[in-house]
Amino acid sequence: MASIPRIILKPEREVAALRRHPWIFSGAIARVEGNPAPGALVAVHSSKGEFMAWGHYSPKSQIQVRLISWNEKADPESRDFWRARLESAITGRMPIAASGATTACRLVHAESDGFPGLIVDQYGETLVVQYLTAGMEARRELMNGLLLWVLQPHTLYERSDADVREKEGLSPRTGLITGEEPPAMLEILENGLTFLVDVRKGHKTGFYLDQRENRAKLREAVEQRVALVEPPRVLNVFSYTGGFGLYAVAAGALSVTNIDSSAEALQIGWRALTRNGFASTAVQDITGDAFQVLRNLRKEGRTFDIVVLDPPKFAATQSDVERAARGYKDIAMQALHLLDPGGLLFTFSCSGAISAELFQKIIFSAAMDTGRTVQITGRMTQSSDHPVALTFPEGDYLKGLICRVVD
Ligand code: SAH
Repeated sequence: MASIPRIILKPEREVAALRRHPWIFSGAIARVEGNPAPGALVAVHSSKGEFMAWGHYSPKSQIQVRLISWNEKADPESRDFWRARLESAITGRMPIAASGATTACRLVHAESDGFPGLIVDQYGETLVVQYLTAGMEARRELMNGLLLWVLQPHTLYERSDADVREKEGLSPRTGLITGEEPPAMLEILENGLTFLVDVRKGHKTGFYLDQRENRAKLREAVEQRVALVEPPRVLNVFSYTGGFGLYAVAAGALSVTNIDSSAEALQIGWRALTRNGFASTAVQDITGDAFQVLRNLRKEGRTFDIVVLDPPKFAATQSDVERAARGYKDIAMQALHLLDPGGLLFTFSCSGAISAELFQKIIFSAAMDTGRTVQITGRMTQSSDHPVALTFPEGDYLKGLICRVVD
């Protein structure tokens, strides 16, 4: 493999690669030997010239190399290399589908599964892929072929339209790769409930699979209230297609109020409600800006027993953290105002740049400023099909707190 281009690191910047972190930033590189094309396989070497790892070259990105193997003897351009990883990723997800109650999950979670830049989500017989880096883009045919061969889906659909592609110098690409064009609304099962997913135009690849286990936690909380206190009034803020709301209805909530800025998403949620055979009378959908709608609800004197806050990513990077923290605090304060004593707040942040510790401080600060006494009764994270490689703590992006308002 003498002709493989080499990346030589600066001596003081070798630690991350030694600890098997998958990213090499441009500032860590002393020089590039050979002339690697975007996406090319490169061998990363220490300043003393020792082999460290194999990676994919991304000249346009700040993250110039994504490391894929630390084994010099590996053959990282072979189908078998990737097949072994894919099979391991699939095996890890087997418990999710085992009972038959769930037919949708993330099969490949990029860096955390050893596939930097590749996302594969399964919606029943349909696979949706996202190619997000130059390295994966260059191996698109190989990966598509492998997915078709190993998983034999009816449909392979591409949603490479995430903003991060821009940083790699790649333009968006979406559309059918193989099989039948997906229907406007695909039906999936999640924990026994039917959801409708638009894989062609929905957010991410169509659905927020990362919240599956937390939606089940909400269901549990609603069931407990139904059994021990009384059926709760649930407010589901940033509802998208009504995921948490549908679980609350299924668990016997007295009422569910969904808020989202997307009328389309709410409409899909409404159809899913009917599809599951739930009487729709107890469900109210409000289209609008959550910051404003929460204030309006307070003005109207509305109160709730459980509030879910699952906003979009407020902080895309470190420089957004302060502004994002103000946003998280604002909605948490509005939510606390609406909760009666004994009420529960399910509050989330999917911003990687906001640590769990900072998020807890933000909620603390919201409780102080609203004069409420609040306990944490549970902590939440992303579902198990979005694993976190220990070598890649950045993959740990979703954090949530279940808070009980004492008074
Ligand atoms: N809880 C959802 C996922 C929420 S994703 C689930 O379990 O599926 C975040 C949602 O917030 C998106 O649906 C987006 O349309 C919505 N959104 C973004 N900004 C908003 C705003 N200012 N007001 C209301 N909704 C907003």
